[in-house]
Amino acid sequence: SLQNDEYSLVFQPQISCQTGKTVGVEALLRWTTADNQRISPDIFIPILEQTGLIHDVGHWVLEQTLQVHNRLVKKGFPPLRFSINLSVVQFRKKDFVLDVSKLIEESQVDPKYIELEITESMLSENFPDTIEKLVKLKELGINIVIDDFGRGYSSLHRLESIPFNRIKIDKSITDGITLKRKKAVIAEAIVSLAKTLMVDITVEGVETKEQVDFLKGIACDEIQGYYFSKPLSEEALAEFLKKEMLQAP
Ligand code: C2E
Ligand code: CA
Ligand code: CA
Repeated sequence: SLQNDEYSLVFQPQISCQTGKTVGVEALLRWTTADNQRISPDIFIPILEQTGLIHDVGHWVLEQTLQVHNRLVKKGFPPLRFSINLSVVQFRKKDFVLDVSKLIEESQVDPKYIELEITESMLSENFPDTIEKLVKLKELGINIVIDDFGRGYSSLHRLESIPFNRIKIDKSITDGITLKRKKAVIAEAIVSLAKTLMVDITVEGVETKEQVDFLKGIACDEIQGYYFSKPLSEEALAEFLKKEMLQAP
């Protein structure tokens, strides 16, 4: 599929609560098969993981993302932060950190514009090795994000040993945040935890204006979700950014 160009990437804007502008984008992988079927990443990523193909595809995802970053800068847009998702399997590879650092060096992208999203499940296996790799990635200047926070077993005691810059609140908490008092309280508690740990907070799966207003009220940093934009092709992202630049500040 990689050789047949069946994979592509889409990019979902992450909007600053303070400025209302796009400050980052998350790269999301898409697969359209030769007979034109679109398969959901929730289905094909576990297969890539089981077969070990995730190493090559993950490499491709980072390589492409860095190229898109550079192309947008060449087009005159201010440099944007790009996040990519990592699979636990990629972390098991001995040379993973070296691979990442080589790709970034070749691309000449400043690592401060790169975020790697990891999930809590990644922390459940071979913890010391994972931490060592995360520390090395962070030393390179890359940002580390804890994705899907609140979905699984939030191992709070582990937060102390993980180097990370951002927490993403999972959609399962965002859903009903304005309707259910308990969910609102949980979101507020996570935001305050993030502030105390001096890390940023992004809320994902935000679909309504009511949710946006609520989240601005509890001082979350960034919002990602269909309310602002679905994941976009590279061309559509450039259009989105252009429109945003033309809007009054
Ligand atoms: P994720 O990292 O939690 O990504 C967010 C998912 O929520 C994306 O689904 C996105 O399209 C969807 N989403 C964003 N905003 C909204 C919203 O407002 N409402 C709703 N209902 N959904 C929203 P997607 O693209 O299908 O990706 C599913 C999962 O597949 C991702 O979840 C991530 O875990 C994984 N994935 C995607 N791309 C990659 C990749 O390049 N590498 C790896 N390892 N995993 C990936
Ligand atoms: Ca993610
Ligand atoms: Ca997520």
